[in-house]
Parts: sequence; C-alpha cells; structure tokens
Amino acid sequence: MRAMTVHPGRGGSASMGDVPEPASADGTLLVRGRLVGVCGTDREIAEGGYGTAPDGEDLLVLGHEGLGEVVEAPAGSGFEPGDLVVGIVRRPDPVPCPACGAGDWDMCRNGRYTERGIVGRHGYGSELWRLEPEYAIGVPAGLHRLGVLLEPTSVLAKAWEQVDRISARAFFVPGRALVTGAGPIGLMACLLGVQRGYEVHVVDLAADGPKRALVEALGARYHSGDAAGIDIEADVVIECTGVGSVVHAAGQKLTSGGIMCLTGIMSSPPTLDVDATQMNRAMVLRNAVLFGSVNAGRRHWYQAADSLAAADPTWLGGLITRTVPLGDWTQALRREQDDIKVVVDLQG
Ligand code: BGC
Repeated sequence: MRAMTVHPGRGGSASMGDVPEPASADGTLLVRGRLVGVCGTDREIAEGGYGTAPDGEDLLVLGHEGLGEVVEAPAGSGFEPGDLVVGIVRRPDPVPCPACGAGDWDMCRNGRYTERGIVGRHGYGSELWRLEPEYAIGVPAGLHRLGVLLEPTSVLAKAWEQVDRISARAFFVPGRALVTGAGPIGLMACLLGVQRGYEVHVVDLAADGPKRALVEALGARYHSGDAAGIDIEADVVIECTGVGSVVHAAGQKLTSGGIMCLTGIMSSPPTLDVDATQMNRAMVLRNAVLFGSVNAGRRHWYQAADSLAAADPTWLGGLITRTVPLGDWTQALRREQDDIKVVVDLQG
C-alpha cells in the first residue's frame, strides 16, 4: 500500500513509499486512512533532525495526526465499521515507569515511550492502518473531516488543563492570556482560552493573511509584529513558537503570580543569553510559574473532542488551508505563504 515514508536521520529521504499492509500486532481495529495533518515535527523528521524507525527497521511511516474510517472492528471493541476515529500518538514505555504505570504516559519519566509516526512506531500516514481500540478516539458526530484537528487540539487541552491545575495553588483570576504564534497550535491555544472565558491576545509576525481574521472571529485580539512590542500584562502565557527571543519577550509580559506554558520545541540556533539573576528575581519575587508541556494523555483527547464539538465548524474549517493528495504528499512539507494547517488526503 502507499504510505508517507522517511528514513529517520537522513534529510531529504521523505517519499511516497510502498509498504506492506499493517501487521495485526498493531491492533484489532483496521482503519482506512482519510486525512493526516502535517506539523513542524514531521518537517523536522523529514529534515533528518528527529524521529526513529521501529526497532530493526530503517524506514518510518510518518503521520501522527491521523483521521480514518473503521473498516473492521471486533465485537465489544466499542467501534463499528464506518466510525470515524483518530489514533492516540504515544504508547507507554515497556518498563513501565511510575507515570506510564499510572496511565499518564504523556508524563513518561524514563523517555522509553514510543510515538506513532515519530518515535519507534509507524504512523497513520498510509492508506490503511491498525489501532488498538483503547488507543482510538471516536470523532464527535458532525465534525467529519475536522476530526483531523483532534491531535493538535489534545496537546493544547493538556497545556490548558495544566494551567488550570497550577492556578488552583492560590488566589487566581482567569483574566488575560497571551498566546505567541498564530499557527495551528497558537490558534487552538486561543480557541481553548476563549472557551475558558479569558481575554485572549495573540501575537504573530504576519501582518495580513487569514490569521488575524481567525483570531478576531473568536473575539480575541490580534497583534502583528514583535512580542516585545505589545503593551499588556498577562495572567497566562501560552508560548507556541519555540523561538528564543519570543519566549523571552513573552515572559516579560507575565503578571505577578502568572503562569507561563512552553509548548514550542526549539531545535536550532540562534542561542539566546538569559540573565539568570534577572530571571530568578522575576520568578521568585513574583511567584511566577514557568512550565513545559508536551503530548497528551487519554483524558486530554476527550477534552479536545469536547472543545472541537463546541467550536464553530466554519472557523475550524478555516484552519485547514491546503489539502495535498497522498500521491504528492511531500508537497505538504513545503511551507507556503498563508499556510495554517496542511493535510494529506490519504485516498488521493
Ligand atoms: C506531537 C506530540 C509529541 C511531540 C514530541 C508533537 O508534534 O504532537 O504528540 O509528543 O511532537 O515527539
């Protein structure tokens, strides 16, 4: 069958591969792939900077934002042929560590987890895939192809849940939130912040294009330009760029007692010199919390499904700015002006 393949560690190796049909060991649900979203992690794997193939193989099927239709489901699995599903990305480490043992694989302690399409397991970027029913999430009725947005939303559902939990430590008013970056992750951070009742501000370099309209359609404020130039104080910062200078500037917008979540993953220079003394004083004397968040546990996928079901489908549809057929999928790795979320049509 056709699949989006890459040799991890070898930049420029992304191609349309011909791979065997999925092994039954991958799970009892047989799924026909519909769409798969492409993100910065996929681009980094394609550039050779991240990702690993399954043990004993040197090829990885990419795709961790997969949406598909169930073709075969065993009785009692909770799924039926025709159901639309998405697949959870991470699987617990085999030891397991205490966090994975408790079912919180997104908080894995020993780093020996696997991730579909990223670390040690084939992904969902193929015409057919298999899935264990306990790692399948049903797409809420009415979402249809927008279910492809569930994975990135789950990552933000976790980030916001952590903010909510941290904010319970003392007096806190969920007032104003600053989101850096208006890509798919930043826009989802904005949606979930608005759903929580925050006054959300989003900053992004883009002056024109669809990002401003999408932010304003949620009733949030869009600032184009540099994060350092915005004149606000935020109770919460959700950092979605992974760019050192933006992280630094956004941190300085945090109010006393504020909470800042880093979701963007930095991968390359330039390095940024941080004044540790100034950072210490800003954090200790102002009770600030800075934390990182990656991946999502099962409950975050359900939270994400609820958030998407409550959102305006037309707004969600506006996030998907380009669809590329599987036969031409490497075009999805190219960044085009005004791209937000690019998806691959796995039957195309
Ligand atoms: C995925 C996460 C994953 C992370 C690190 C992100 O793109 O959304 O599920 O944990 O990459 O591999």
